[in-house]
Amino acid sequence: MAQIEFIDALGVDDGVRQVTELFREAFGEEPAGVWDAPGRVNLIGEHTDYNNGLCLPIALPHRTFIALKPREDTKVRVISTLSDGKVSEVDLDGLQAGDVEGWAAYPVGVAWAMRNTNFGTGVRGFDAAFASSVPLGGGLSSSAAMTCSTALALDDVYDLGFGSTDEGRVTLVRMAMSAENDMAGAATGGLDQSASLRCQEGMALLLDCDPKLSAVDSVSQHDFDLSKRGLELLVLDTQAPHSLNDGQYESRRRLCEESAAALGVDSLRVLADDVNARPEQERADAIAEIIAKLDSEEAKKRVRHVLTEIGRVTDFVEAFRNGDIARSGELFNASHDSLRDDYEVTVPQLDVAVDVARTEGAYGARMTGGGFGGSIIALVDEGKAEPIAQKIADEFDKRGWNAPRALAVVASQPAERVQ
Ligand code: ADP
Ligand code: MG
Repeated sequence: MAQIEFIDALGVDDGVRQVTELFREAFGEEPAGVWDAPGRVNLIGEHTDYNNGLCLPIALPHRTFIALKPREDTKVRVISTLSDGKVSEVDLDGLQAGDVEGWAAYPVGVAWAMRNTNFGTGVRGFDAAFASSVPLGGGLSSSAAMTCSTALALDDVYDLGFGSTDEGRVTLVRMAMSAENDMAGAATGGLDQSASLRCQEGMALLLDCDPKLSAVDSVSQHDFDLSKRGLELLVLDTQAPHSLNDGQYESRRRLCEESAAALGVDSLRVLADDVNARPEQERADAIAEIIAKLDSEEAKKRVRHVLTEIGRVTDFVEAFRNGDIARSGELFNASHDSLRDDYEVTVPQLDVAVDVARTEGAYGARMTGGGFGGSIIALVDEGKAEPIAQKIADEFDKRGWNAPRALAVVASQPAERVQ
């Protein structure tokens, strides 16, 4: 059977070389600098961000590089190693939300979002070239890697001054989010962009999406050094046909908001905090009491997922901190099962990949990202990522599915300037 492909991260030297060469070829001059931003993988806490909940991403070693040079006019020209040699050109002057088609909406959207603020009126056009080792559409946030690298580059060349502190980066998160939500029309709750700009090397980022918290108070860093514990994290992109743009995300998000309103709270987070303040054995009853007040079976299931999932994030952080790997794995498993049965965002490829990983000895495995395709993660002993990924690939092959692709992942550094 075919051997599983592992996608290597594009290293800094290669990344800088690729985007610099592409920039020269396309625009006939030297870029002002090179920046990169990582994709991310969320360890646990799925579909919680827009419920003011908790999530726990790490930054990937797989990153998107951008070579950029500002322009005097308002023109933007962008090229990617994936755009078949084609330069996309857009004028920022008079641009409205949703005006840009195709992938250029992401980088153009960042400049557009900045120009809509009082600090960004001086932002003008730019030329930029991109290269990336983040798989596209794999649930690992190639889109955020692109918008966040662009945001950091523009911050730097236009001296906005946000990139140098964690607090300042929160503003760049907002710009990157606006590019995705308003220009690319791809709904996003901020997890991806926060991870790409704020994660630290060797750490998982506990992100509290409660808007009442200040930007600084909303994150904390937690040790996620796997090698110290003899562990590996396998990320496997199932390559299942994937789309978050067909209304599934929006309809769930809306139902969560409607359910919160029906239950008399601003967000489901408020109820999750009530539930999780109780002793563990009382939580299921507390949740049953809450969802009994909802009319539809669908709303009950969706709300149950959100309430249990927020609790699992805090439980995971505590279990991992205590070195309780068996419990950490169980929480991965419980998260996946909830996303499959209650939130109903898995597809057969995700379920099968997770099942095989568990059978082959993973401590735990779960889908990660929005669902409907994308990737799974599995917490495994060192040396096991490869053979488990191979078993999953064999099973996919038997079923006639697309070959999956794997990534070996450690918690990596946030968006940075590299040249
Ligand atoms: P994900 O963020 O999970 O990878 P999305 O659908 O949110 O998936 O974003 C993928 C889209 O982002 C692509 O379809 C493309 O428009 C854009 N994109 C991301 N990285 C690149 C790249 N290196 N070159 C060109 N477009 C890219
Ligand atoms: Mg995305």
